[in-house]
Amino acid sequence: MSEITKDDILEALGGVIDPISGKDVVSAGIIQGLQTKDGNVAFAIEVPAERGAEMEPLRKEAENTVFALSGVVSATVVLTAERPQGTSGSQPQPQGGAAPSKPAGPAQQQGADLLPGVKSIIAVASGKGGVGKSTTAVNIALGLAAGGHSVGLLDADIYGPSMPRMMGISGRPNSADGKTLDPMQNYGIKVMSIGFMIDEETPMIWRGPMVQSALEQMMRDVNWGELDVLVVDMPPGTGDAQLTMAQRVPLTGAVIVSTPQDIALLDARKGLNMFRKVDVPVFGVVENMSYFLCPDNNKRYDIFGHGGAKKEAERMGVDFLGEVPIEIDIREMSDKGTPITVAAPESQSAENYRTIAGKVWDKIEKATGGESRAPKIVIQ
Ligand code: ADP
Repeated sequence: MSEITKDDILEALGGVIDPISGKDVVSAGIIQGLQTKDGNVAFAIEVPAERGAEMEPLRKEAENTVFALSGVVSATVVLTAERPQGTSGSQPQPQGGAAPSKPAGPAQQQGADLLPGVKSIIAVASGKGGVGKSTTAVNIALGLAAGGHSVGLLDADIYGPSMPRMMGISGRPNSADGKTLDPMQNYGIKVMSIGFMIDEETPMIWRGPMVQSALEQMMRDVNWGELDVLVVDMPPGTGDAQLTMAQRVPLTGAVIVSTPQDIALLDARKGLNMFRKVDVPVFGVVENMSYFLCPDNNKRYDIFGHGGAKKEAERMGVDFLGEVPIEIDIREMSDKGTPITVAAPESQSAENYRTIAGKVWDKIEKATGGESRAPKIVIQ
């Protein structure tokens, strides 16, 4: 079977009509960022921000059309909006997309329907990148699995998906019915990441509505099955895209990861406020790279000043969930795709992660009344 080309895809899309212009989507010039690799096709359709919802059938039609082509293994089509609602000029929309509105009933309701078999969803977030959010998300997920729970891991960090590498998974997800994707699996947990569809090195320009659409597909169109908990590795930061996500995903609670420096804690505070704004309970703070345990002499060094996150958690009125040292093994194992919790379960750091996961589970149980269900629905 010969490799599907961009021309083949555009030719097929020539038969899909854009209801706004009446032209086909290719002539209308609304296909963006078309990529194809090993039969995996991804692109965006640009639509006016205010018509996003009504363009869903067009998105689906385009996706089905491409998926039907011989040689196509998967088709991922997302909607994107060039300009925010009400802007008539030619200014491109800044990353982060349309300003998020306050939580709306139907959106949250819809969120709950996205993942019918999933009993609870927790976000692992950080105020900024590089603090070890993804490493923490992976090890909490594995710690929860070690506690006997069925766990999924959703990589919502679509700007820098790291789950394929950290979880040691390569290849593409399978689609048995041509409509939904089976999540990838390793170490007993189910994993989904945009990194399975798009190369890690391929730069993608994501805009607000596109981010949301990609994320919703990774929830709705993936066979997550029955899970006790889905751990969501959030994109770093506290911008509009993150806020929208915090609001649309029916989160049971959030865990904030920070390093101990003052400047990182300032960002962590922003993260906390973001979740509070959308009424998602913050389960607590994890201090990562808390201290350095020298492998040569076993001496402990407080490189970044230890304990800052604990104090900050107290000040902010949230729990401190635990600390993890900066350790060469954590980095090496994480970058090798063998997270420390599974590679060295007897290590102190693995023990720390399991303790943190245990506290998270207690919070989940409390938040869901032991049912691990019913993400909070906010109707305003
Ligand atoms: P983020 O998701 O916040 O951007 P990552 O989890 O990707 O951060 O971590 C960034 C880098 O730091 C990775 O190379 C990771 O292996 C390393 N790292 C994270 N936590 C630790 C730790 N406790 N000790 C040593 N290295 C760590």
